[in-house]
Amino acid sequence: MNHPGTGLVVTANQGNLPGVYRWACYLVEKGYDRPLLLDANRYGGNGRLPATTPFDSDWLGRQRDLGLPVLTDSGYVGLGDLDGLVAILRRTAMIDDAIALLPLHLSWLRVPSARDALLRHVRAFAVPIAIVVEHQADPFGVRGVVDGLIELLNCEVPLLLLRCDISALGALCCGAVAAAVGTRAALRHLYPMVPPSSRGGWPRPAPSVVVSGCLSYKRLGTVARTKRQHPDTNLWGCGCSTCEGRDLDWILHRPEWMRERLAFQHSLDALVELREQLIGPDPRRDQLTWRARCANAAYWRREVGWDTLPALDHWQQAIGLPPSDDPSPPPRRPGWSIPPQRRSDRTTSPE
Ligand SMILES: [Zn+2]
Repeated sequence: MNHPGTGLVVTANQGNLPGVYRWACYLVEKGYDRPLLLDANRYGGNGRLPATTPFDSDWLGRQRDLGLPVLTDSGYVGLGDLDGLVAILRRTAMIDDAIALLPLHLSWLRVPSARDALLRHVRAFAVPIAIVVEHQADPFGVRGVVDGLIELLNCEVPLLLLRCDISALGALCCGAVAAAVGTRAALRHLYPMVPPSSRGGWPRPAPSVVVSGCLSYKRLGTVARTKRQHPDTNLWGCGCSTCEGRDLDWILHRPEWMRERLAFQHSLDALVELREQLIGPDPRRDQLTWRARCANAAYWRREVGWDTLPALDHWQQAIGLPPSDDPSPPPRRPGWSIPPQRRSDRTTSPE
């Protein structure tokens, strides 16, 4: 959690803003000084609010008082809800320091006409945006979504990608200011609403770990099984500070209550290492490096008999091959970043 260049998004359980606020106070008081965002998560679950719901000015003020970046507590932008999309962007533009949280139905990135409307309004209001894309599995595995994200990244508006998995790295390579990977599966996705007929909601999956060579999250049991079948590849050993050279399935031999935390710690280390390998001084090279890593990961997935991961193909297709002998200088990186925490005048204790 304290690697250079990292930050934290604290996401509310449905409606539990006081809980998130207490966490934020605790972290600020303990001197956590990396970027910290509070996600009110009013857009998720079956009790989600629509995008036309006004922001809670008290909630925005609390973030500001703690010296944090102000992330709007937006509702969900559903299929065709242009009024809702515009409402979020317009209200954010009226606030000096806010980031517009846009929790989007997949169609806003996938369907060309919806995407055009999204791009037009994002350019017009020109406020920083943080997007969350709804899907029951991997939104970037759906054809057209990576293309839509890249077009959005080219709008010259600071963009953050929240509740994501490995594709967060692709977004960073293509110019996102920041990208957040969930600590557990439920926070790596925005699940659609559960149909009233099905009880119990989406099942809570077993812990998964990042397999860096495959750019994939895989359940620990799958990793252990595949390792037995393909013991000689170098996919399994990990030199991160959590694994310390052990093969990834070591976590499976720890008590069950520890596995999710260990899986997360390993995955965070692995993602930070991947980011360091991917991001360099020339943004154009970052995209090409990411493209090459996607091709390599697809190869290794085939080698060990795992299904193809469509997102890996979509990233490669969307980035394309480099133009030959391009003499232009490298583009500059966007200057915007999530500000570190300001000193807060107000000291607040956890309640
Ligand atoms: Zn590790």
